[in-house]
Amino acid sequence: MNDFQNNFEYIQQQINQNKIDLVDLCKFYLNRIKNNLNYNIFIEVFEKQALKKAKEIQIKINNNTAGNLAGLFIGLKDNISYKGHKVSASSKILQGYVSPYNSTVVERLLKQDAIIIGRLNCDEFAMGSSNENSFYGPSKNPINPTKVPGGSSGGSAAAVSMDLCTMSLGSDTGGSLRQPASFCGVIGFKPTYGTVSRYGLLSYASSFDQIGPISKNIKDIFKVMNYISGKDSKDSTTSKKNINYEKLKKKKKYKILFSQDFLKYEHLDNEIKKRFLCFLEELKSKGHEIQNIKFKYLDYVLPVYYILTTAEASSNLSRYDGIRYGYRFAESKDIKEVFVKSRSEGFGDEVKRRIMLGTFVLSQEYYEAYYTKAQKTRRMILNEYNKTLKEADFLLTPTTPNVAFGLNEVQDPIKMKFQDIFTVTSNLVGAPSISLPSFKNSNNMPFGLQVMGKNFGDADVLSFSDYLQNNYDFNS
Ligand code: GLN
Repeated sequence: MNDFQNNFEYIQQQINQNKIDLVDLCKFYLNRIKNNLNYNIFIEVFEKQALKKAKEIQIKINNNTAGNLAGLFIGLKDNISYKGHKVSASSKILQGYVSPYNSTVVERLLKQDAIIIGRLNCDEFAMGSSNENSFYGPSKNPINPTKVPGGSSGGSAAAVSMDLCTMSLGSDTGGSLRQPASFCGVIGFKPTYGTVSRYGLLSYASSFDQIGPISKNIKDIFKVMNYISGKDSKDSTTSKKNINYEKLKKKKKYKILFSQDFLKYEHLDNEIKKRFLCFLEELKSKGHEIQNIKFKYLDYVLPVYYILTTAEASSNLSRYDGIRYGYRFAESKDIKEVFVKSRSEGFGDEVKRRIMLGTFVLSQEYYEAYYTKAQKTRRMILNEYNKTLKEADFLLTPTTPNVAFGLNEVQDPIKMKFQDIFTVTSNLVGAPSISLPSFKNSNNMPFGLQVMGKNFGDADVLSFSDYLQNNYDFNS
């Protein structure tokens, strides 16, 4: 495996020239996983099954009958269901639970002969920004193991960063693909809401959640999106609109927006700000049009996000009652105690906080003051976003206000929530958004560039990202 490049484009070329054997490739990943167990990235590795599949698919390759994703080894965030396998959302409450069915994304991947290699650590029920809310303990950042990998899809980003699989899937409700991608120096893509089926995703906040890939190569994301996206009769929120992922399309000149309102954010790291502005200058010098716009709702995006997502979470998580799934407090004297004790012991602190907040904003007395108001504000933000992007191609921001912070460094749950200041808007409005591994600070820690696109402009976001990756030397 000399000169091995961990991207699917390369792997497929090698497969076509009979230079890579799938069993060897599988062993390569399994060995890397074994040698890096202290990073706590995989919760479970499907070793035997992956090897068996690799053997079977290699035979198909030899006979020219393999699917289009043969050679792709995928790690799954621990909130995506894979039939016959455990799935726990990194929560104690789902201990021992085995999924009786496949999520649509898994079904579609398997159909094309991708191999699922294991399940990846994350924040409990995808709530968090550091992976520290996992029942299994945090993953560590591959670039500096004293730092967090970000969250909630921390394991998914760390696994790709360390070459433990070719690509991973995670979910993004407010930034959970992009923020960890930024912290780990990889690409995280949140597609337009409704383009990838959520069937089989353990819900956090259903009107925000979206499954997406983490990878090192834009072309790989483009290819995989082609197979995992599209209408699904099992998820009524999936859209009929077909996004064309056949060919990356480029424009000669882009109209790019940024907003000083984002850059004025008080906790934005100075190095990030400088590098970001410098990059805009570079774009300008290559002939692209750059425009500063007003984004008057920035102060509202986090409150609206946290009111609406906790409301949805309090409802979604009511199904975990100790009876139907996973963990049960068995020595209870009556049914009420089963509910209360199973939930009290099964959920971690952050999940409990959010259930309480969500229940509060939905309560009869406060519903109008919080929930309804937040819904209205969400609509205003959406209108503003659509209007702003109508005359332009993309809105650019740094993905995160800071680089990866230390394990145990951010103790205050409110402070933690400010991690999402630049990412939640895309989820509030449903639009596609990507974090590109663009820059490094003076301590060699990576941080990402966020490209936010128009609703259903997913192929454009990816095409532009590909253009950026091929034409700009980000680390200079
Ligand atoms: N970090 C954000 C939160 O804690 C986003 C999580 C996510 O996208 N799943 O809610």
